[in-house]
Amino acid sequence: MSWISDIARPEIVSLKPYEHASWEPHLERLHANELPWRAIGDETDAGLNRYPEPQPKVLVARLAALYGAAKEQVLVGRGSDEGIDLLVRSFCRAGQDSILVCPPTFGMYSVMAHVQGAGVVSVPLKVNENFMLDADEVLRRCTPNVKLLFLCSPNNPTGNSIPAETILHIAQRLEGRSIVVVDEAYVEFSDAASLVKHVDTLPQLAIMRTLSKAHGLAGARCGTLIANPEIISLLRKVIHPYAITQMTVEAAVRLLEPAQVAVMKSRITSIKAERQRVFDALGKLAAVKRVWPSDGNFLLAEFADPDRALRSSRAANLLIRDVRAQVGLPRTLRVTIGTPEQNDRLLESFK
Ligand code: PMP
Repeated sequence: MSWISDIARPEIVSLKPYEHASWEPHLERLHANELPWRAIGDETDAGLNRYPEPQPKVLVARLAALYGAAKEQVLVGRGSDEGIDLLVRSFCRAGQDSILVCPPTFGMYSVMAHVQGAGVVSVPLKVNENFMLDADEVLRRCTPNVKLLFLCSPNNPTGNSIPAETILHIAQRLEGRSIVVVDEAYVEFSDAASLVKHVDTLPQLAIMRTLSKAHGLAGARCGTLIANPEIISLLRKVIHPYAITQMTVEAAVRLLEPAQVAVMKSRITSIKAERQRVFDALGKLAAVKRVWPSDGNFLLAEFADPDRALRSSRAANLLIRDVRAQVGLPRTLRVTIGTPEQNDRLLESFK
């Protein structure tokens, strides 16, 4: 056991996990109180009358290969949302420990911390410097009770990436003290490389990847946490044994075949081209005061009259995201890049 177990919740370190029904697919199952027949119309490979395999080996292997990680470094959960929840519940003692976030950023980090009764230390991005991370302040505010830092790169909703050197510098300084969680939900849309390969040498680094964005599988709920095997073992005690449904396992394995991954890559190229086109077009509209460059599949823009932009996009049958409640973002809205036709309709609605 290393320092990772020292900073985790002691209850989780000593927790004896639930003993799920053993997974021995070559034998017939009379050990899990399942029905021996499938429901009429159940066309899954394994049958939905059976509990799914916990941390299904085929899916874990497929995701490990996709992300360039070792199988022992992988935990599959119900989207990255579940990864966030598991990390907070495993590392933060209620009323004592905290997470650190850099707003404006994805809201689930703070929500999960509040659910757990953990504190939230907030180090805002530098709004006037293109949302640059304040690395010195992050390190200064990272006291021993801050167990987890959530860095989102590319960041939602601002779209900018944090330079790899900055993240690695922060991680190196925090070895033995905190886990640096890098949320790479949108990394496929950026030109920057994932930091997954650094997990081998930095046990304090945890990377979150998801099939929800570039792979077009948000409805399947499948996220991957890539981290030191000691972190993965701890979280495996906490995750529900049958977290990943059989339908998701089969869909994800089938949809991660090489031919599908090639389609995904060509779609990313289209989204990136559209992102540039929409960025240029928004910048020319009188209604738009400012639009920020983005490494994600969305753009953040400041509007002269955001209420009007929300009304006119809705009248064009399009929903866009109001992010004005976030720190440092008055008058800003976030638009996801859609099909060329949707993007044209949106741009037209702002005229
Ligand atoms: N991280 C970020 C930065 C996100 O924007 C989102 C979804 N909006 C998530 C994680 C959650 O992803 P998932 O669907 O994998 O739970």
